[in-house]
Amino acid sequence: MTATASSPVSFDGRFARELGEMSIPWQADEAPDPRFVVLNKPLAGELGLDPAYLRGSDGLRLLIGNLVPDGATPVAQAYTGHQFGSLAPRLGDGRALLLGELMDVEGRLRDVHLKGSGRTPFARGGDGRAVLGPMLREYIVSEAMHALGIPTTRSLAVVATGQQVQRETMQPGAVLTRVASSHLRVGSFQYARGTGDIGLLRRLADHAITRLHPAAAAARHPHLALFQAVISAQASLVAQWMLVGFVHGVMNTDNMTISGETIDYGPCAFLDAFIPATVFSSIDETGRYSYRNQPAIAEWNLTRLAESLLPLFHDEQEQAIALAQESLAGFRQQYGAAWSAGMRAKLGLAAGVEDDVAATMVDELLSILQAGRADHTAFFRSLGAAARGNTGPARSLLPDPAAFDAWVERWSAEDPDADAMDRVNPAYIPRNHLVEDALAAGTGGDLAPLGQLLAAVTNPFVERPGLERFAAAPPVEFGPYRTFCGT
Ligand code: AMP
Ligand code: MG
Repeated sequence: MTATASSPVSFDGRFARELGEMSIPWQADEAPDPRFVVLNKPLAGELGLDPAYLRGSDGLRLLIGNLVPDGATPVAQAYTGHQFGSLAPRLGDGRALLLGELMDVEGRLRDVHLKGSGRTPFARGGDGRAVLGPMLREYIVSEAMHALGIPTTRSLAVVATGQQVQRETMQPGAVLTRVASSHLRVGSFQYARGTGDIGLLRRLADHAITRLHPAAAAARHPHLALFQAVISAQASLVAQWMLVGFVHGVMNTDNMTISGETIDYGPCAFLDAFIPATVFSSIDETGRYSYRNQPAIAEWNLTRLAESLLPLFHDEQEQAIALAQESLAGFRQQYGAAWSAGMRAKLGLAAGVEDDVAATMVDELLSILQAGRADHTAFFRSLGAAARGNTGPARSLLPDPAAFDAWVERWSAEDPDADAMDRVNPAYIPRNHLVEDALAAGTGGDLAPLGQLLAAVTNPFVERPGLERFAAAPPVEFGPYRTFCGT
């Protein structure tokens, strides 16, 4: 039985209370034999949760929803989703629950969420389960993103349930305990709009302003300001993805947050070779969510958000549309500015370098990189050495370095700042082949490779001796890489 027992922390159930039309109170399935696989101690600390408590039997049960903490009302959240462009009006948490909200030590309200906690009324044909490999994958990649300074949901723990789950083969079942500033998605607004209840839509928008974009409350038009804040957050987020070579892989509207945090690490992966058309997901046959399409897809999703919010923008639809379009135009401009500034930083260019000079330099370098199919992460990292006068590492990544040599001469004349470059060009990302190794070992009970990989990617900018294999491009026999959804 799921118990309500006294817990050393008190949760809130704000979403459940304020947005009852969008939440179904529900309980996590009882895990027959829960066991820790990984616990994020620094994150526990941020949340004011004692790792020693969490490691005990009550803490373990709390983390998977089998002990409902004081104040919590676990709910499955309702949302809509455009999945690969097709509308699914009633998607919702099919295998997940919002356990509740928790005030962290800095006074910020954070969602604590369970993934893989059993079937809910939104499960449709699904079994409500998650398996260990994919939950560890989300843990690794989300914590790597956080360490890279990229907004993301966080991973507090992965607990094996003791259940075997049918996938292609039988796999150990697991629950991921996920933390976010909120789980509101573009699809949450599509859902509220779809009900036809404008009062609900307004309540949802006000809830989002209070929790995520409080500055919008003081604007002349708070709901329009909310929309603009989401545009800014997403423009910045997707620029950061592009700068590190991250491919989300399933940018459906239910997988795009209102906070601007990266969410739902299913088929995501980092580029190895710089090939802009790269798609990893096995089901993305048209390349809709390829690396290079991500900014355009973000804009498409934000247009769906605008459509959902129109009744709050203005009573006259035409005027509401005009306001939405004016705001949406800001996406390209802000995305472009964020990306250009990020690229300048990757090349270590000083503020005095003219924008057109920097832009030409960036374009030329990306052409060289693409023509040479160079490893994205290793190449940018190697530019730090090049800025210090050693072009050997960068040249070794290019089959024909002649064009690069000419480029380096022009670039060096701008006196790039190597130390600043090392602070933005990571040495260690969760490389696909290493993630696969860690998941395979972890699923088989050997957690050492997972621990080593996490140690590398959670401190990505400081190169350490002994970690060379975490910085190296994959062996040739590895590619091409395929990833999977809904696992
Ligand atoms: P995702 O692609 O992971 O964002 O999931 C899309 C939708 O499918 C969401 O509504 C999920 O809750 C649901 N879903 C994914 N896997 C399962 C599962 N095993 N059982 C039930 N629902 C699932
Ligand atoms: Mg999702």
